[in-house]
Amino acid sequence: MQSQTELRNILQRIDHRGYPAYKDTRGSYDFRNYILSIDHVQGDPFASPSKVSVHVRGAAAGFPADLYQMKCRRTALEDYLLRQFGRELEKVSFKAKGSGKSGLLSVSRCGQEVLERTACQLDEKSGDLVLRFEVGFPANGRTVNSRELEKIFFEFLPQCVSRSLFYKALDAKTVKAVADLAEDQEFIRSQLKERGLVAFVADGAVLPRESGVSGRPMKGAVRFESPASLSVELELPHHGKLTGMGIRRGITLIVGGGYHGKSTLLKALELGVYSHISGDGREYVITDDTAVKIRAEDGRSIQKVDISMFISNLPNKKDTKKFCTEDASGSTSQAANVVEAMEAGTQAFLIDEDTSATNFMIRDELMQRVVNREDEPITPFIDRIEELYREYGISTVLVAGSSGSYFHKADCVIQMNQYRPVEITESAKAEAERFPMPPSQPPRQTKPQFARCVKADRAFREDRMKMKTMGRDGISINRDTIDVRYVEQLVDSEQLAALGYLLKYAQCHVFDGKKTMGQAVDYLEKLLAEKGLAAICESSYLPCGLAMPRRQEIFACVNRYRKLMI
Ligand code: ADP
Ligand code: MG
Repeated sequence: MQSQTELRNILQRIDHRGYPAYKDTRGSYDFRNYILSIDHVQGDPFASPSKVSVHVRGAAAGFPADLYQMKCRRTALEDYLLRQFGRELEKVSFKAKGSGKSGLLSVSRCGQEVLERTACQLDEKSGDLVLRFEVGFPANGRTVNSRELEKIFFEFLPQCVSRSLFYKALDAKTVKAVADLAEDQEFIRSQLKERGLVAFVADGAVLPRESGVSGRPMKGAVRFESPASLSVELELPHHGKLTGMGIRRGITLIVGGGYHGKSTLLKALELGVYSHISGDGREYVITDDTAVKIRAEDGRSIQKVDISMFISNLPNKKDTKKFCTEDASGSTSQAANVVEAMEAGTQAFLIDEDTSATNFMIRDELMQRVVNREDEPITPFIDRIEELYREYGISTVLVAGSSGSYFHKADCVIQMNQYRPVEITESAKAEAERFPMPPSQPPRQTKPQFARCVKADRAFREDRMKMKTMGRDGISINRDTIDVRYVEQLVDSEQLAALGYLLKYAQCHVFDGKKTMGQAVDYLEKLLAEKGLAAICESSYLPCGLAMPRRQEIFACVNRYRKLMI
C-alpha cells in the first residue's frame, strides 16, 4: 500500500501526458481513515469509467455489531449506506471537468427493493466496509488532466466518505430502524411458513405506484385493508403488533370489475419476494420467496421441456415430453413457464388473466361440447390447478376478471372492490353450485421429467466472451440475446449483469453435459450463498454493478439462453 502523498506525486508526474499514463495510478492508497483502491483504469476518456473502491476498517466505520451480524440486517444496512454514499457522490459528479466521461462519479442506483449488491459490502465478522463505484478520470481531449482527478480524490471523495460511511456521521435512530425493518420483514417471511400462508399484505399498505415507469408509491392512494375474515395478527420483533390479510395456501382467486385494483394487488405480491425500503408502502407486503409469476410469452425458445401435463398429441406428432421450439405460442410458452417454475422448486404461482393465454387457462363448456377432448391437445390449467396443489404443494393466486370457471376450484375468493378486498368465497361458491361444470376428467399425468442435462455452447470460449446487459430487458452474450423482458420478477439491471457473469462462469465450470439443470443451478446457488457474487467473477477485481438474483430467475435466464445445449 502507498501513502496518499505518493498518489499525489504520481498524479503530478503524469499531468498532460497521454491518457494511458493514468494506468500508473493503479493500486491502494492510505487515506488515514480509509483506503482508496484504484482497481481498474479506463483506456480512454470515452471508455467505460475507471473502477475504484473505498475500504473502511470496521473499527473506523464504527457500526455496532448488532446492526450487521444477522444477514437480513446486514443487507439492509449495506443498502442504506450505498444509498447515502450515492446521494453524496451525485452532488459532486461532473464537478471535475473535461472531455468524455471526465469527472463522472457514479455508484449503483438502488430502486425500491433491497438487494444484495457488490457495490457495498460489509464483512459480517470484522465490520469492514467496501464501497465500489466508477470514476471518469478527467482528460483534456485525450491527455491526462490529473489536477482535476486530484480534486476528486483529495477533496470530493473524502467528503462523501466521511459523510456517509461512518456510524457517527449518520443518524443512529434511522440506521437502527433500517436494520429493524429488515428483521421484521424476515420475521413475516418465517411466519408465512408457520401459518400456512402464501403471502401477507399489511393493513395500511400502499400498493399502486406513481406511474408505469416509477417504482415510487402513488400519492393519495386507497390504503390496503384486509377483510375481517382473512385478517391475521402478527407480533413483529421491533414494530410490534401488525395486522393484515393472510392469503392461505391452496387456490386463491382475485376477482372484481375492471380497474378495481386486481393487477395492482398481484404485482405487489410478485415483488413481495423482495423486501422494500421504508416509505415504499409495501414494506410489509411479503410473499413466499419461491413464488413465480407465470405468464404467456410468445416467441420465447423452449428446450426439451416436458410440457405433456398441459399439451400432448400435437397434430404434427411433436414430442411434448421433450418439447423444443424457437418460437413458442402463447399456450406452449405459458405451459413451459409453469413446468420450468416447478423445476426451480416454486411453491406458489402468481397468474394474471391479463397476461395469460386464454386457451391455456380455460376451455368453456360450449367449446368442450363442440370440440372433443380427443381433438384438443391442451389440458387447460384449470384442469391441473388442484393436482398442482395436492401433488406438488404448489399454491396458485390467480387474477380472473372474466372467467367464472375458476370459482369451482378456488379455496378462497377475494373481490377487489374500489381497491378494497372483500372475501366472497361463500357467495361465489354458492353461485358456482348453480352453474355446474361439465364433468371433466383431465388425462392422467405422470410427474414431469426434469432430467435435462446442460452443456456449454460449443463455440463458447471464455477469453472471447463479450457480455453486455440491455437495461432490464436482456443480456447479450457474444451475439446472442437472452430476452428476459417477461421475467417480471427480475427488478434490477444489476441482477441481469450478475446473471451474465453467472452464465459465463457456469459455461466454464458447471455446465458439463452431465449435471441436470437442477443440479447445475443447485451448485451455483450454493456457491453464491457461501461466497457471494465474488465467486462467479473471475476478474482481478470485483465488478461494482452486480445484484443477487433469486434461484427462480437463474433458472429463467438459463432457460431462455438459446445457445445452451440441453
Ligand atoms: P384491474 O387489474 O382490476 O383492472 P388495476 O390493478 O390495473 O385494475 O388498477 C387500475 C388503476 O387503479 C391503476 O391505474 C392503478 O394505479 C389504480 N389503483 C390500483 N390500486 C389503487 C389504490 N389502492 N388506490 C388508488 N388507485 C389505485
Ligand atoms: Mg388487470
